Amino acid sequence: MRSCTQFYIDGQWVDPAIPATADVINPATEAVSGTISLGSAQDVDAAVAAARRAFDAWSHSSVKDRLDLLRAIQAVYARRMQELGEAVTEEMGAPLSLGCGFQAGLGAGHLQTAIEVLETFRFEEQKGPTLIVREPIGVCGLITPWNWPLNQVTVKVFPALATGCTMVLKPPQLAPYSAQILAEIMHEAGTPAGVFNMVQGQGSVIGTALSTHRDVDMISFTGSEPVGIQITKDAADTVKRVGLELGGKSAWVILDDAAMAENVAAATAGMMVNAGQTCSAGSRLLVPRARLNEALAAARSACEGVTVGDPHADVAMGPVVSKAQWAIIQDYIQKGLDEGATLVAGGPGRPEGLTRGFYVKPTVFACTNDAVIAREEIFGPVLVIIAYDDIDDAVAIANDSVFGLGGYVSGQDRDTAIAVARRLRTGAVWVNGGFDFHAPFGGYKHSGNGREWGEHGFHEYLEIKSIVG
Ligand code: NDP
Repeated sequence: MRSCTQFYIDGQWVDPAIPATADVINPATEAVSGTISLGSAQDVDAAVAAARRAFDAWSHSSVKDRLDLLRAIQAVYARRMQELGEAVTEEMGAPLSLGCGFQAGLGAGHLQTAIEVLETFRFEEQKGPTLIVREPIGVCGLITPWNWPLNQVTVKVFPALATGCTMVLKPPQLAPYSAQILAEIMHEAGTPAGVFNMVQGQGSVIGTALSTHRDVDMISFTGSEPVGIQITKDAADTVKRVGLELGGKSAWVILDDAAMAENVAAATAGMMVNAGQTCSAGSRLLVPRARLNEALAAARSACEGVTVGDPHADVAMGPVVSKAQWAIIQDYIQKGLDEGATLVAGGPGRPEGLTRGFYVKPTVFACTNDAVIAREEIFGPVLVIIAYDDIDDAVAIANDSVFGLGGYVSGQDRDTAIAVARRLRTGAVWVNGGFDFHAPFGGYKHSGNGREWGEHGFHEYLEIKSIVG
C-alpha cells in the first residue's frame, strides 16, 4: 500500500492542516492501492506563502544555478525512473512497458529539453533604444490531470523552474503517486525551500483555492474543457494569466496515395495507446470514400492485434483510469450504436475473460462527422472512421470540430501532405509520424491557449519588461 498523506511545503514534508484522506484505487484490480490526504485552502495558503517567500531569491538566481539544479534533478530522476514508471502503472493503469518507457521517458525528455533551452535562452534583447527583458511571472499554480501524469507535471514544473518561477503543484487525485515521487526527487536534488511545493487533494478545493488566490500570479492547467473554463472565471477577479491545455478530437487524414492498410493499422494502434486517454489522439480517421471498405478491414484486423489485460503483463492496453471514466466510455459506445454508426470492432462491455478492472474493448466505428461520437472527446479506446470525397472535403471535415489540438496527415507526396497540414486549424500536425520535444504543443479553439514544450513553454512563465531609453 502506498501512502501520500503529507504535502511538500517550504522544503519539508508536512501534515495537512485539517486531516482528511481518500483511497486510491488500482484501475486494473479495483482494489485500494493506497491513501492520499485531501488538502484544504489552509494548506494552499501555506504553500503559496512559501512560494512567495522563495520567489525573490529564485527569480534572481543565475542561469548557472538553475542549470545546476536541473542537472541534479536529472541525476535523481534517472535513478528513480523505473519507480516512476511503476507508479504510473499502478495509479492509472498504463502497461508497465508504457509506464516505464514513454510515460516516464516524457518526463526525462522535458527535463533534458528544459536544460537545452535554458543553456541558450535569451532573457534579454536590445531592440533599438529598448532593452526587452523577460522576467519570471511569479508564483505559479500548476493543476494537472491523470492521463499522462508525469508528462503533464514535468512539462510545467521544469520550464517554471528554469525561468525562475516558484510554484505550487496540485496533482490529480486519481494519480497521485508519480507526482509524490517527483516531489521526493526535487527534494533530494536540493531544490531550495519554497521553490517547489505540492498539495494533494480535490480540484474543487485545492484547484479553486489556487485559481482564486491573490498571491498566485499564474495558473497553468491541463484537463477538461469545463474545468478550464471554470478556472478562467475563478482567476479573473485576480487578473491572473491562465494557460489552458484542454481536450481534442483530432483528425488523422489518410491521403489517397498513402499505403492504406499500413497507415490505418498505425492510426488504430496509435488510438489505443494509453487506452485512448490522450488529448492529442487521432480519434477521427479520415479516409478516401472509395477506399473505405479497405480501411475498415484494416482497422478490424489492427484491433484484433491489440492485447488488453493486466498492465503488468505483456499487453498493448491496460484498463482505463476509473470506474467513472469506464462508464463515460460505455455511454459513448452505446450512443454510437443508438445513432446507427457501423460497429467495426469492439463494442460495449469488458473484453472477454476480464471480469474485474476497468477494461474496455478496443472499439472502432464507421460514421459521419455529425455523430456525437465524432464530435465529442470520448477519452477512451474508441476510434471513428469517416469517409471523405476529396481533399477539400477532408480538410472541411477535419476542421469541423470545436477542438483544434492535433492533426495527422499520411501521404506519399510530401508537398501535398504539408499543404493539407497547413490548412488544418490545430496547434500541431504530425505528417507521416515524427516526434520532437522542442515542437510547441497547445490548442486552437476550445483546445486551449498558450503553448507548452521546448522554448515556447518558457514564454508561458515569463513577463516582458521594456526598459526604454
Ligand atoms: P478534470 O479537468 O476534471 O481534472 C484535471 C485537474 O483539474 C485535476 O487535477 C482536477 O482535480 C482539477 N480540477 C477539477 N476541478 C477543478 C476546479 N474547479 N478548479 C481547479 N482544478 C480543478 O479532468 P478529469 O480528470 O475529470 O477528466 C475528465 C475529462 O477531461 C476526460 O474525460 C477528458 O475528456 C478530459 N481530459 C483532458 C486532458 C487533456 O490532456 N487535455 C487530460 C485529462 C482529462 P481532481 O484531482 O479532483 O480531479
